[in-house]
Amino acid sequence: MKRVVVVGGGVIGAACAYYLAKAGRAVTIVDSGAFGSGCSHANCGYVCPSHVLPLAGPGVLWSTFKTVLKRNSPLKIRAGVVMRDPGWFLGFARRCTRSRMLRAGVPIQALLASSRGLFDELMQTESLACEWEKRGLLFVFRSHAALEHYAETDAILREQFAMPARRFDGPALNALEPTLRPGLAGGYLYENDAHLRPDRLMSEWRRVLLHLGVEIREQCKVEGLLTSAGRAVGVRTAAGDIVADDVVIATGAWTPHLARDLGCRVPIQPGKGYSITYPRPAVCPTIPMIFEEDRVAVTPFATGFRIGSTMEFAGYDTTLNEDRLTLLTAAADRYLREPIRGEPTGKWWGWRPMTPDGLPLIGPAPALPNVMLAAGHNMLGLSMAPATGKLVAELITGAKPHIDPTPYTAHRF
Ligand SMILES: Cc1cc2nc3c(=O)[nH]c(=O)nc-3n(C[C@H](O)[C@H](O)[C@H](O)COP(=O)(O)OP(=O)(O)OC[C@H]3O[C@@H](n4cnc5c(N)ncnc54)[C@H](O)[C@@H]3O)c2cc1C
Repeated sequence: MKRVVVVGGGVIGAACAYYLAKAGRAVTIVDSGAFGSGCSHANCGYVCPSHVLPLAGPGVLWSTFKTVLKRNSPLKIRAGVVMRDPGWFLGFARRCTRSRMLRAGVPIQALLASSRGLFDELMQTESLACEWEKRGLLFVFRSHAALEHYAETDAILREQFAMPARRFDGPALNALEPTLRPGLAGGYLYENDAHLRPDRLMSEWRRVLLHLGVEIREQCKVEGLLTSAGRAVGVRTAAGDIVADDVVIATGAWTPHLARDLGCRVPIQPGKGYSITYPRPAVCPTIPMIFEEDRVAVTPFATGFRIGSTMEFAGYDTTLNEDRLTLLTAAADRYLREPIRGEPTGKWWGWRPMTPDGLPLIGPAPALPNVMLAAGHNMLGLSMAPATGKLVAELITGAKPHIDPTPYTAHRF
């Protein structure tokens, strides 16, 4: 039986391990911390095929500039981070054109659409108890100007990506989601989006993976790759070497730390985001919502209510800034009829693995054909996980890839 080591036990590593084990490989997951404790732990839980467009788009540089200057801005960029890695930020800036945005949307959509179908399949075949719900995703706007501005994005999604939304104006929005305050301008509903509770998903992956015979080694940092004759023969860890026929690198925002061993550029910046989770309120929204003007997302779970967002390019900063959490709750209050109160059950931050072009790196490391990269999933790692895992398994076993892997290659940087 061929052996694969998957480095990183986040949602991407878990999905890779799942499809590899299903394809008959003996799989070991190695994580420097606890399985599922990275960025995959307390994100907003959206499985959102609607999020086709990358962050880099026309007008983004100007709006970023304006937002960064604001006090209490949901977006922060530390000057030192830009100075240390100007290439990343220049690469992002270069991609802020309509044509490049539309071009990037095609491979993003391929992963999202495939994953959405695979999630349905997984829920059925593995009975994952992770509070999976198919209620869509509602973009909500306070001002008419912002609603009309979004109509342009909606037109792009509808015309270029066959991703239509239903528009709800004023009172129709309140009829759809009565927990919203009256007087909001309107919203767009993407009916095919779904959501789940990310920490529950990770515990369910653990159950399923262990059942499939996958070994999970925690608190075990991979320090480098073992190589021989231009191939990897395993990984070097603090607790000894692990030999393998193939290696998968699913280390999210930490992946640049392994760049020297991988022998290629890994342009990933940690994009820090926060979430705060409350007990489920008595009057709880039924639909997950994004409050676009405030860049805040809310997710109703059967067992709680999460508010999340913010984007900080602050390097590998590990502080939990309570002010950010207060701002999240205050922003949600501006949209909801009943303010969210009570003792939070969770306060969290995570590093999104951000690439300049919004696409993940999936495929062999240029110098080591049996080391498969699966990292850099930006703001959509949960939504892209099953398709990534399936694609990685296909590339390793030599099966026909179910989506074209070319756009995700590490060779592009
Ligand atoms: C506030 C917020 C909200 C979000 N909401 C959504 C959402 O609604 N939908 C969505 O699709 N995405 C969302 N995301 C993005 C999503 O969370 C990430 O894209 C995804 O979790 C990345 O998964 P990953 O497996 O690549 O990384 P991680 O989950 O971070 O896993 C990487 C793992 O690698 C391990 N590791 C690192 N280095 C080593 C090493 N040397 N040796 C061994 N192990 C190592 C780490 O310990 C970690 O466990 C959100 C992110 C944030 C911050």
